[in-house]
Amino acid sequence: MTKDCVLVINCGSSSLKFSLIVPQSGETLLSGLAERLLSNDASITIKMDGEKNTSRLPDPFDHQSALSHLVAFLYQHKFEQRLLAIGHRVVHGGENYSKPELVTEVVEKTIEALSALAPLHNPVNLIGIRASKQAFSHLPQVAVFDTAFHQTMPKTAYLYGLPYKLYEQHSIRRYGFHGTSHYFVSMQFAQMNNKPIEDTHVITAHLGNGCSIAAIEGGQCVDTSMGLTPLEGLVMGTRSGSLDPGIVFHLCKQLGYSIEQVDSLLNKESGLLGISEISNDCRTLEEAIENDGNEHANLAMDIFCYQISKTIASYSASLSKLDGIVFTGGIGENSSLVRERVVNRLKLLNLAIDNEANLATRFGKSGNIAKAGHTGCWVIPTNEEWVIAEQTYQLINEGN
Ligand code: ADP
Repeated sequence: MTKDCVLVINCGSSSLKFSLIVPQSGETLLSGLAERLLSNDASITIKMDGEKNTSRLPDPFDHQSALSHLVAFLYQHKFEQRLLAIGHRVVHGGENYSKPELVTEVVEKTIEALSALAPLHNPVNLIGIRASKQAFSHLPQVAVFDTAFHQTMPKTAYLYGLPYKLYEQHSIRRYGFHGTSHYFVSMQFAQMNNKPIEDTHVITAHLGNGCSIAAIEGGQCVDTSMGLTPLEGLVMGTRSGSLDPGIVFHLCKQLGYSIEQVDSLLNKESGLLGISEISNDCRTLEEAIENDGNEHANLAMDIFCYQISKTIASYSASLSKLDGIVFTGGIGENSSLVRERVVNRLKLLNLAIDNEANLATRFGKSGNIAKAGHTGCWVIPTNEEWVIAEQTYQLINEGN
């Protein structure tokens, strides 16, 4: 049997997402999610051939239990004979990694050390890597970093207006996230426009629960909206995005917030949820606007869209020309309302939307939704799992 597929693992604190992908074609053979891990309610759902199977996980209900269940399933369907390697999504690669890495002891230690910059993500990514090393001890494990694609940013874009020694001694700088998604849709944009990537100038907007925008010139990221952490930049589902830093002092000194309370406020209680006081979910807000003209929902969506427009416009300072913009992520791929509101404010960039194309390009469809004669405005579904599978495949084949 040919060895032709990669298992992609994306590990969260209480979840583990996985897909089995043929990197050369992008075909997904199976996918699934283990959730509520570390509780006695833990379960795993595997989707294959249009069918979904959910099972409860046995004690100790952890990432290892989820992987053992998955391994048994892979053996049952003889997929283990086709497995080439395991590709792991790792959130923070710091300045150490600008491309995928074969997981060695040194790489594991570096990911661990980088937990200081991503305390919510890197430790759980490591749990996934370690559990997977036990489950698939004979296979290469590859780490693909969310920050890697943004490592080409110049210092002017990645340094903050802080004392330089904070960068030198403590690595405080902009890193950016969603790198695999920005990379994927910018490559797709070039392909769909029959342009070599070296001659492509594009702004990509990844709008999901987390949201970020990147300016990409010749296939290289030159600026992006997320920073040291994924809290900076746009208003998101529950994250505030960029603020006057003075607000933090005001909350602590005048209003008596603790650091933990500020952390929770900015990460979990703000954004679309905080402004609308209804939901962090774009669909719920759209329904509230459509059904009863809910003012809070409308205001939240307006602030959300205005910030996206402003960020896109600000990248006029980063690019030498603009071939087009791209919308991706759950909101970017599906919300014609958000796309319309964002683009309506960008007339100075010669952007204008074709209403019919905007409504028709949803639910997995890709295409240019710009009015004729205007700058390209594309909807391109992202596929981060495929990028991880492909980069894993390329790395293990290097030198062969
Ligand atoms: P994550 O960042 O967790 O991967 P997704 O990329 O799946 O998130 O995006 C989730 C967001 O996409 C939610 O706000 C959801 O409301 C929005 N979304 C999904 N489908 C639609 C739709 N049909 N219309 C509008 N928004 C949608």
